[in-house]
Amino acid sequence: MPGAKSRRHLYIRFGSYLLGLMLFYVPASLFVRAFYGVQGQHLVGNLCDSLNLRMGVGGLLKIETWQKVFAADPRSLGIFAVIAVAFLFGPLFCGWVCAAGSLSEGLSRLVPDRFKIDIAGRVNAAAIRYGFLSGFMILPFIGLSAGCAFCNFRILNFMSLGITGGFVPALTSTYIVVIALWLVLGGMFMKGGRGWCNFLCPVGAIQNLFHGLGARLGFTYKLKYAPEKCRTCLNCVKVCPMRAAAPAAEGRWRTANGAGVLFNRHTCITCNDCVAACPHGALSYGVGKAAVPAPAPSPQPAGAALGAAAGRSEV
Ligand code: SF4
Ligand code: SF4
Repeated sequence: MPGAKSRRHLYIRFGSYLLGLMLFYVPASLFVRAFYGVQGQHLVGNLCDSLNLRMGVGGLLKIETWQKVFAADPRSLGIFAVIAVAFLFGPLFCGWVCAAGSLSEGLSRLVPDRFKIDIAGRVNAAAIRYGFLSGFMILPFIGLSAGCAFCNFRILNFMSLGITGGFVPALTSTYIVVIALWLVLGGMFMKGGRGWCNFLCPVGAIQNLFHGLGARLGFTYKLKYAPEKCRTCLNCVKVCPMRAAAPAAEGRWRTANGAGVLFNRHTCITCNDCVAACPHGALSYGVGKAAVPAPAPSPQPAGAALGAAAGRSEV
C-alpha cells in the first residue's frame, strides 16, 4: 500500500493532468486558444491540428518544418518547446501534462496486478520506442504515415468532444487498434498502464532522447539516485508507471549480488512517483550528477559487485 506521501504526490500529479486536459485538449484547449488568441486568431472546432506535437515530431526531418520554424509558425514551435523542456528538466510533458498517458495509467490501477503484464527489467522498451520513433520519422519519405489515424491524442480529443456534446467522427479500424493498444493491452492489462507511452508514442520518445542528452550535463534537472542510501526495498520499482525502475537482480539487468535498483533514463518521465515512495531518501530530482557512472553488467568479480549493482543508474 502506498504511504501518505506517495498518495499525496499521486493526487497532485493527477491534478496536473486534469490541468493538462483543460490546457491542451478540446473543448477547452485553453493554451492553444490563448496561443493563437494573442495573434488575433479565434479558433473553433477540433483544435487537434493547431498545436500538433505528434505531427511536429514527424516533420523534424523535413526542410519545410525548419522553414516554418524560422517563419515563427506557431504550429511548428510547440514540439520545440516540449523538446527544450525535456532537455532541461526531463520529459515533464509526459510525467505531468499528457492526459492521454494519465488516462491509460489510471485505467491500469483498476485491474489487479496479477492480471497485468510487467515489463520492468524484462523488455528493452527504450530500444523499441526509439526504433518506432525512427520509423515514424522516416515513413513520410517513402509515402507512408503513422500520423493522425494512429494517434491517441486525437482519440482523446474525440472522446472529450463526445462527452461534451460535440461532433465525433465514425469509429474506424485504425482507431479501434489504437484504443486496444493504448487503453486495453497497454493500459488496463499492463503494470503502470503506460504501454503505449513506452513503445508507440513518438512525442514521448523524442523527449527521452533529448532528456538522455541533457541529463549528462550538470546544470539540467534529472532523477538522482544515491546508492549508498538505498536499502533495495523496491518501493520505487513497485510504483514506477513507466517500469523504468527495475531491481538489479532481474532479467537482462541481472548483476552478481542483485543489490540496488536500475533506472532507465530513456523511459523515465520524471513523474517523481519513485522519489515520493522511497522511505530512505535515496532518490531526488534536481541538478547535478544522476548517480555513480555505470560499470559493465555481470559477470563481475564478487568484490566489485555491490558497488556496481548499487551504483548503476541506467542502461
Ligand atoms: S523512474 Fe521514477 S521518475 Fe522515472 S518514471 Fe519511474 S517513477 Fe517516474
Ligand atoms: S531507491 Fe529507495 S525505494 Fe528504491 S529500492 Fe532503494 S531505498 Fe527502496
